[in-house]
Amino acid sequence: MTFAMLRASFTSLNSVQQWGFGSVSPAHATQLMHANVQPHVLDMRMIESVNNSIRHLSPTEIRSKMKRRSLRRVSIKPSSGVANDMHSGSDWDKAEFVLEELRRQCDTPADLLYRLVEDMVEEMKAGLAKEGGSKDYKMILTYVDKLPSGKERGHFYALDLGGTNFRVLRVSFGQDGSTPVFQEVSIPQEIMLGQHEELFDYIAGKLAEFVSKEDSSYHPRPGCKRELGFTFSFPIKQTSIDSGELIKWTKGFAVEGTAGKDVVQALNEAMERRGLDMVVTALVNDTVGTLAVASLAASKADAGDEVMISVILGTGTNACYVESIDAIPKWKGPKPSSGNMIISMEWGGFSSSLLPRTQYDEALDAVSVNPGEQIFEKLLSGMYLGDIVRRVLLRLAEEAALFGPSVPPNLLIPCILGTPHVSCMHQDKSSDLQEVGRILSNVLGIHETSLELRKLVVEVCSIIAKRAARLAGAGIVGILRKIGRDRSKHDGSSSHRTVVAMDGGLYEHYPLFRAEMKAAVVELLGSEVAENVLIELSKDGSGIGAALLAAAHSKYSRYGW
Ligand code: ADP
Ligand code: MG
Repeated sequence: MTFAMLRASFTSLNSVQQWGFGSVSPAHATQLMHANVQPHVLDMRMIESVNNSIRHLSPTEIRSKMKRRSLRRVSIKPSSGVANDMHSGSDWDKAEFVLEELRRQCDTPADLLYRLVEDMVEEMKAGLAKEGGSKDYKMILTYVDKLPSGKERGHFYALDLGGTNFRVLRVSFGQDGSTPVFQEVSIPQEIMLGQHEELFDYIAGKLAEFVSKEDSSYHPRPGCKRELGFTFSFPIKQTSIDSGELIKWTKGFAVEGTAGKDVVQALNEAMERRGLDMVVTALVNDTVGTLAVASLAASKADAGDEVMISVILGTGTNACYVESIDAIPKWKGPKPSSGNMIISMEWGGFSSSLLPRTQYDEALDAVSVNPGEQIFEKLLSGMYLGDIVRRVLLRLAEEAALFGPSVPPNLLIPCILGTPHVSCMHQDKSSDLQEVGRILSNVLGIHETSLELRKLVVEVCSIIAKRAARLAGAGIVGILRKIGRDRSKHDGSSSHRTVVAMDGGLYEHYPLFRAEMKAAVVELLGSEVAENVLIELSKDGSGIGAALLAAAHSKYSRYGW
């Protein structure tokens, strides 16, 4: 069989290809031909994979899927007669092969996601059974067993140490219309990779700077201290509401000497060294703060919605949820009056072998500060998406000479392409993909790109973002399944709507990501159940939520919850 005949037989498969469930490029076809795969065999396999992917969908869902996929599908190869003057040496067949391989490896059909959901639920149960019971999820007991009442009063502070920056805030509760006061401080690289005391002294210094600007009305009463909620968004082993040891740094932090130490004690000591009249009263994870803020909003709205889950998609990613204390065998304390405890999963550690990983993910992991760890996080959080895209583009430059005869030097620089660049390129609505051109030129030093090339870059961004968003969606469905809220109400489960509170820069600033994630949740739950699951942005849990929790656990205020 000649290449031309193979190409013709693939053209006849066009209707299948348009669905986007699997297609074969001419370059890939050549490979298959060499591997002696007959087209009719291929044909059957593709149809089977289509069948598997749509088996669970209703006819309406299938139609809308067909429409969506066929709209999004782009041909990257310049049509004949369109000269690609800039990059005449480019091997478009090779590029198409690389892209096709990427599509295939990053594909997340519903049946795969269902299997991941099952794995997730098993790991959650194992992590709740005993300390270290799950290889993936820490399932951290947060010691938060009640959510806000709205009766909190007074001035409280929060310190949000989440990733790239940290923020200091003062929030005044009980005063209508009072707006929180913020200060954002970036963390120098040498501090992120430095010594334990340096980090906490640096933070205490910035806190001191913040309060030094306050007028006397904010000064604490004699005998009292300013109270601080400390949002520390790294895996900790919490031992009470105001103590917890760092298990390990993530998200590019590698401060020496902190692992195994109580971070509250470290901050309190640094504040004392500095002569600052401030004390940590609540150590919270940003997910827990988000849950607290969303819960307060829901109780004020009084619509009976129950905030059960919160997810952060920012530099890193994590989720927490409200678990029944009876489902936590490792809890040895007294039963809380609410009967519940918030569990911080540390879901970034999920590492099922079913996760759709590629050579780019493996290479990224190998050079990360924590190789072999946080595998789920590395597939979907803001810290990594940009660099995965860069790695794909680098391969296209090296093997398909897509950006000219030599590899653009900037493409070799790790992390030069950020997730905000990816979202900006992916969401470029201009007909000539101006933003894509601008970012390729300004960030990667690739100038005067053709429209075909820009389309290809958009396609890479779209594949990587879609995989990430769908995995996040599967994570949410995993929690819903664990707490029995993935079913319709006929089985006696709660009749309230379940709220999933979302926060983080990736979720907030990337509408296409949000849409893909929500679509995956609907696809996995079915539309009837999904109608009772509200996925909502709940901003500033890591700040205001922490201050709320500090108020709730105040040592000096008579108001609590
Ligand atoms: P952190 O996780 O550090 O506490 P954020 O929640 O603000 O902070 O998230 C910041 C992260 O969000 C950045 O590291 C970046 O990856 C991602 N991000 C910021 N802006 C955008 C954007 N426009 N599009 C996509 N991702 C973004
Ligand atoms: Mg944060």
